[in-house]
Amino acid sequence: MTEKILEIDNLTVNFDGFKALNALTFSLDPGELRVIIGPNGAGKTTFLDTITGKVQPTEGEVRFKGQNLRNLNEHQISRLGIGRKFQTPRVYLNLTVWDNLDLACNRRKGVFQTLFGKPDQGERLTVSGILQTIGLSAKANLEAALLSHGEKQRLEIGMLVAQSPDLLLVDEPVAGLTDEETENVGNLLLTLAENHSIIVIEHDMEFVRQIARTVSVLHQGSLLCEGTMDEIQNNPRVIEVYLGP
Ligand code: ADP
Repeated sequence: MTEKILEIDNLTVNFDGFKALNALTFSLDPGELRVIIGPNGAGKTTFLDTITGKVQPTEGEVRFKGQNLRNLNEHQISRLGIGRKFQTPRVYLNLTVWDNLDLACNRRKGVFQTLFGKPDQGERLTVSGILQTIGLSAKANLEAALLSHGEKQRLEIGMLVAQSPDLLLVDEPVAGLTDEETENVGNLLLTLAENHSIIVIEHDMEFVRQIARTVSVLHQGSLLCEGTMDEIQNNPRVIEVYLGP
């Protein structure tokens, strides 16, 4: 059996007596792209916050590549190889596309060279290679402020990739994008899925259908069900959660 890259057992997060996550169990295979859906308040953000160390579990545990993440802070967890992309792009608007990526690459090199005195194996990831992957080679010298919203999302995903994470956590990457931009981001995530494990939180069901092989449905802090998009959309429990009884 393949070792899971991420294993979550019986995870509970209690906010003043309210269980944002309730005995959640979840696992992800290396190289898997999983989409998580669920109504507002289902616990999706808290789920990502707990994996990245922003929130500590009340009960249960999160293991990444076999290591228990309990009591590690966000920086330590990020260094282990978990990268997170928030919903709003966090790029440096007054820097060029190239400089944004160069900065992200140097941040990675800085950490490895300080810790081990030598470049890491991810050194091969060059700015121009990432530019090609994210489809922004022609805009390398443009200020990031001049990019469309979708291009900024792709740039930020590139900045995340520059830091060589094994697991990418991506929060609603296509909110507010045009159909074409949505498709571009979807294709980028599918390309990255060839050598990363990825969890995407998303509401846009057309987009979920474009990228997802397996979808997990969160409801009231627990996993309601998992399956292909067709299985999920025909599951009476999912229909009830989204449409009401
Ligand atoms: P989702 O991302 O699926 O919309 P969240 O994880 O943001 O859900 O929230 C799950 C539930 O936990 C919501 O009811 C929210 O109000 C509550 N919650 C989230 N963060 C906190 C907090 N820091 N303190 C109290 N309640 C919170």
